[in-house]
Amino acid sequence: MVSCKSCGNAFEGNYCNQCGEKVLVPADRSLRTLLNTIARAITFADNKFVYTLGLMLRKPGFVSAEFAEGRRVKYLPPISVFFVLNLIYFFFPLIQLFNASLNTQLLSLFGGWLRGPLTTAVLQQGVNLETFTLLYNLKTVGLAKLMVMLFVLLASLPLNVLYRKSNRYFTDHVDYMVEVACFNLFVNAIVLTLIINLTGLGSQVNELTLTILFIMTNLYFLIRSGYTFYTESSWRLVIKSVLMIGLMKLALEVYRLILFFLTIWTM
Ligand SMILES: [Zn+2]
Repeated sequence: MVSCKSCGNAFEGNYCNQCGEKVLVPADRSLRTLLNTIARAITFADNKFVYTLGLMLRKPGFVSAEFAEGRRVKYLPPISVFFVLNLIYFFFPLIQLFNASLNTQLLSLFGGWLRGPLTTAVLQQGVNLETFTLLYNLKTVGLAKLMVMLFVLLASLPLNVLYRKSNRYFTDHVDYMVEVACFNLFVNAIVLTLIINLTGLGSQVNELTLTILFIMTNLYFLIRSGYTFYTESSWRLVIKSVLMIGLMKLALEVYRLILFFLTIWTM
């Protein structure tokens, strides 16, 4: 029996059965092990991130299903994949997804509701609209980074109703929506930003082309992942997927509405 260095639990073997702490052996402290660790960290050889993200793209819904069924050690938790992608996205949040500039806010579904509070906020700041817009856009990016989980939670709510007979728990629906959000961040925000910048197609990308692209890619992802994760099929799957696209759009608008008010209240 050894006593765990982290939690004090007495156990046998190389890993604590309470907290998972590894028993250090002399080899763990060797230069060779150190160099191996550094090499792995640099080359991504042991990188579960790339592996898990790759699976999300090739087999939509598979990682969520593995997680829900308790096969987890092979993958980076989807929530971690999500936060890494967010980190990348918020370096250049050009595509208005979880970030929403003042202009995007005013053109959104609830844009009409925002004009009154906006006018009040501009007056309170005592600056002109251009200066206010600059300050607003800086402030809202910071908040959006913290708030993005709210979108996932909101968007996962309808799944509890649409797939109530699916034998999935509330937290499984949230995990699944995290995977949907990962797909969107990677394909519709990061890769799309790269393509637009590398090809110089920026002038041809407008709201309409973006919306069509979002609908097509999400329809593809929701149908494939719904089949895998909820074992739904045929016309029910198609109808539920179309419904989910509308409900995800609604969740995004509600998220942006909350983001707007948080931004002007904290400015
Ligand atoms: Zn322990």
